[in-house]
Amino acid sequence: MVIYECVIVGGGIAGLQAAIQLGRYGHRVLVIDSNNGRSSLCRAYHNILGWANGVSGDYLRTTGRSQAEDLGVEFLNSTVVGIVEKDCEFICTTKDGKKFSGKRLLLATGIMDRLPNFPELYPCLGISVYVCPDCDGYEVKKKRTIVIGSGNAGANMALTLTYWTEEIIYINHEKQEIDETIQSQLLTKNIPYYHEVINKVLAKESQFKGVILQNGTKLEGNHAFIAFGGNEIRSELASHLGVELHENRHILTDSRTKMTNIKYVWAAGDVAAHSEQVTIAMGEGSQAAIWIHKSLMS
Ligand SMILES: Cc1cc2nc3c(=O)[nH]c(=O)nc-3n(C[C@H](O)[C@H](O)[C@H](O)COP(=O)(O)OP(=O)(O)OC[C@H]3O[C@@H](n4cnc5c(N)ncnc54)[C@H](O)[C@@H]3O)c2cc1C
Repeated sequence: MVIYECVIVGGGIAGLQAAIQLGRYGHRVLVIDSNNGRSSLCRAYHNILGWANGVSGDYLRTTGRSQAEDLGVEFLNSTVVGIVEKDCEFICTTKDGKKFSGKRLLLATGIMDRLPNFPELYPCLGISVYVCPDCDGYEVKKKRTIVIGSGNAGANMALTLTYWTEEIIYINHEKQEIDETIQSQLLTKNIPYYHEVINKVLAKESQFKGVILQNGTKLEGNHAFIAFGGNEIRSELASHLGVELHENRHILTDSRTKMTNIKYVWAAGDVAAHSEQVTIAMGEGSQAAIWIHKSLMS
């Protein structure tokens, strides 16, 4: 079995940025990636330095991978299903039973949003349908916006968006209960509230157009936010290794080095406890790589 100086699990934004940095030190690095993260979903990021007109996750992933490959970083398209530590090495097993060993381990597995099962929404993600108000609240400034969500999570998203727009509709698609205080805040802010299942999402390519509810009501709008709560935090491999997690299941790391409580195991990007954004994932990937390099040199 080849022993890599570092194995990176997850080749999204954080994993790729770390791979580029480690590749520039000339380390032998393997990235194992299953290509089903948030950067595979988002069609346009608008809040990144240098990309005023937006850049897609796919573009960043494709160019990032080829940049890392040019530096000698190796890639494997697969899913890691288990990691064990043995004799100061981390042995990663993939779903097809292959094993890869690294002296250092970087977990950059991200999170996954809980999205409703309407395929029409997917081409719109990041273009006319959003998930993160810090990223895309600006995109709906003074625009009619439909919040598709569940219970308190959706209602809180609708309330948050009042910072940018007064024209908000909230559809509680899963008909989950909403706290009385939050309901009265919706009333105070004049947010129309529908306790109704959505029957159909209207969209043309990447342009969201509205929804038709089960009771036949048609609600039109060119922008939507999704907020169902209960996102999947992909920290299970970490927790099996004994890595300490925050109460919300994000991985805890040292703020200076990004190393976890387990020696030689690092974490970066959305899976680590921080605000979930591309530029932060990039920063953490670089930061982790610098300290992985230092540890390999000591
Ligand atoms: C619709 C949408 C819009 C967004 N808009 C913005 C925006 O405008 N601005 C912004 O800054 N951020 C935005 N984000 C957030 C941004 O996409 C994330 O912050 C960023 O992708 C985090 O990078 P990451 O590397 O941590 O995770 P990801 O990009 O999700 O990458 C994680 C990778 O790990 C892989 N992986 C997971 N588990 C395993 C495993 N066991 N084995 C192998 N591989 C594995 C996944 O397949 C994936 O490729 C948006 C997200 C979504 C969903």
